[in-house]
Amino acid sequence: MNILRTITAVSGPSLSRGFSASAQKNAKYSCKLLVVGGGSGGCTMAAKFARRFPRDAVIVLEPSKDHYYQPLWTLVGGGEFKVKDTHRLEADVLPKKAKWVQDYAEVVVPGDNLVKTREGHEIQYEYIIIAVGIDNDYAKVPGLYEALEDKNSGVSTIYSPAYAEKTFNDIKSFKGGEMLFTYPNSPMKCPGAPQKIAYLAESYLSANPDVRSKTHISYNTCLPVIFGVKKYATELVKVAERKNIEVRYRTVLKAVRHDKKEAVFYHKPDCETEEPSNSQDIVYPYDVLHVAPPMLPPRFLRENACIADTAGYLAVDKYTMQHVKYTNMYGIGDCCNTPNSKTAAAIAKQCYVVEQNLLHTMENDSPKEKYNGYGACPLLTSYNTCIMAEFVYDGVPRETFPFDQSKESKLAYYMKRDLFPFMYWNVMLKGYYHGPEFARKIFHPFQD
Ligand SMILES: Cc1cc2nc3c(=O)[nH]c(=O)nc-3n(C[C@H](O)[C@H](O)[C@H](O)COP(=O)(O)OP(=O)(O)OC[C@H]3O[C@@H](n4cnc5c(N)ncnc54)[C@H](O)[C@@H]3O)c2cc1C
Repeated sequence: MNILRTITAVSGPSLSRGFSASAQKNAKYSCKLLVVGGGSGGCTMAAKFARRFPRDAVIVLEPSKDHYYQPLWTLVGGGEFKVKDTHRLEADVLPKKAKWVQDYAEVVVPGDNLVKTREGHEIQYEYIIIAVGIDNDYAKVPGLYEALEDKNSGVSTIYSPAYAEKTFNDIKSFKGGEMLFTYPNSPMKCPGAPQKIAYLAESYLSANPDVRSKTHISYNTCLPVIFGVKKYATELVKVAERKNIEVRYRTVLKAVRHDKKEAVFYHKPDCETEEPSNSQDIVYPYDVLHVAPPMLPPRFLRENACIADTAGYLAVDKYTMQHVKYTNMYGIGDCCNTPNSKTAAAIAKQCYVVEQNLLHTMENDSPKEKYNGYGACPLLTSYNTCIMAEFVYDGVPRETFPFDQSKESKLAYYMKRDLFPFMYWNVMLKGYYHGPEFARKIFHPFQD
């Protein structure tokens, strides 16, 4: 492999940890590997390649100075953690041997191996990994953003560090009435979290039977099922029944009238993707409303149609993670159009596939490793129980442990709360975690 062909920054600030201040404009850089996005996927891939290559051969293009372990925001909403417990500085999680350009990617010219940034920098690359995640689309629900911003509205979301603590404040100060939870009509990350927070809220309120007896809780989902994998859906329906949570299927939030404390929904028939023209508004009053917002691909992908599919997600092969058109481009994580559940657990599996296949590409060979669609969702059902859903493409369960994971377990809860954050910060972001397959082989030696 010709790593010595790697050229590092040809102009631009020279700073000791390979950090490039965003203050300077119009700098030109060149690198072996450009990683766009320094979240879960980008940081993990940068760690894997930075240790193989000379200093600054890997550039990470990431605008934010903050890095969050997002899966813990559910337990922030449940009051077990504060947002600060989920936070590290980006500078502390990026590999020291990589150069960080703190800016947004704006334009990619794949034919020229070039990315242009918002501040006017140009980055020439030999290989590129796109890992820009998925964005909340508050504007799709009129009134939602204003309600989130109003401290006393009773409207919150665990899908943002700005509002996750508000969720617990709303639950804590609730004195009875209508509590609504929603699931959006769009692709989203961690599709289990909208119901996890409903179960936590119900558990919290159950500790005060007086308040619980005066409360009606509903879970309003655009889907016709409670969860996409049948084995776990069967158990989750029982959990919702036991907790006396009304599940309203095919029910989509379309507006929030927070001055009147009303949430407006429409009914989504079978085959429609958007609101049918003849649909009637369904109005539910609320005292507390938790919204899982609609989501959409980041602007960088929506505005660079040459690398995206028609929906705006990065167009990659669902097995190799290689771009369908540009062989020196790979994708990882939530921004890809692979039909898996968008989770950090999926990234743990994808990162090995991307690493191995990109190494083959660098050797002028074709990609060999295949991503099987693995994703996992620790479905918290209370403050000490959890259903540990694990599955691959087409909703086929693929469980690691030697017990039926569709049953609520305490072990799964403590893995979610304590083990996974530890693994994330100390093993995954350093590029050493490839998912629980090794453990699965130990517990199930005779399965493939
Ligand atoms: C409430 C909640 C609960 C969750 N629970 C779980 C769980 O239990 N288990 C689980 O496995 N997963 C869970 N997840 C999902 C998991 O956190 C995400 O799937 C994962 O973090 C996605 O990683 P990513 O690298 O694709 O995107 P991100 O980590 O979001 O990173 C994307 C990065 O790209 C950057 N970026 C965006 N635009 C540009 C641009 N133009 N140029 C450069 N950089 C850009 C962003 O600043 C960001 O840093 C949860 C998520 C949430 C919000």
